[in-house]
Amino acid sequence: MILILLGPPGAGKGTQAKRIEERFGLLTLSTGDMLRTAVREGTDVGKRAKAVMDAGKLVSDEIIVAIVDEAIGRLEPTQGFILDGVPRTTAQADAIGAILEKRGRTLDHVIEMKVDDTVLTERITGRFTCAKCGAGYHDTFKKTKVAGVCDKCGSREFTRRSDDNADTVKARLKAYHAETAPLLDYYRQRGLIRAVDGMAEIDQVTRQMEQVLTRN
Ligand code: AMP
Repeated sequence: MILILLGPPGAGKGTQAKRIEERFGLLTLSTGDMLRTAVREGTDVGKRAKAVMDAGKLVSDEIIVAIVDEAIGRLEPTQGFILDGVPRTTAQADAIGAILEKRGRTLDHVIEMKVDDTVLTERITGRFTCAKCGAGYHDTFKKTKVAGVCDKCGSREFTRRSDDNADTVKARLKAYHAETAPLLDYYRQRGLIRAVDGMAEIDQVTRQMEQVLTRN
């Protein structure tokens, strides 16, 4: 199964991808994670992407298409996967279509995570992650059970994304509406879009997604 998660920053794509991948034996390909790794490692791509990411703008289609093509190429030929945070432009969607065709693969579903803009800034600016195991938390909506200690692995070290601040979030939302939202129509025309209510409780969103993925 090949699945695209489409939705604004803060919609819960990463959170849901983690849950869905376990249930359906998929791997998640997140261009945001790939780029953050490239920035951390100081690679050429990382150097080119850093300032763009800090400004909340979109990294060039050329870079994105190259890293996605490479990531898909590293998978076993029949391995199912979730694209998280990609495509974000029509050019990326076209290129991903071509990459899949070249490999004889088919896109099965595009899930739209519907969330009101009004809650996104609060969702994004409050989030933090365990530096050791990657578990995700939120200052208000998902605190650790013991303050300052990761529920999953007991680590006391946490990280926050440098682009999860109010100014950058504004730019990221603007980029979403201008460049990415048109993809809803793009995939609707291809009969692939299914919407879930991203405002619901985390478990409920997962259940809605499971229903979509097991329906056909
Ligand atoms: P994300 O983790 O998906 O929120 O992505 C973080 C940042 O990485 C975005 O604000 C963009 O600057 C960049 N980025 C990630 N994926 C893409 C993409 N598919 N196209 C362009 N830029 C991207």
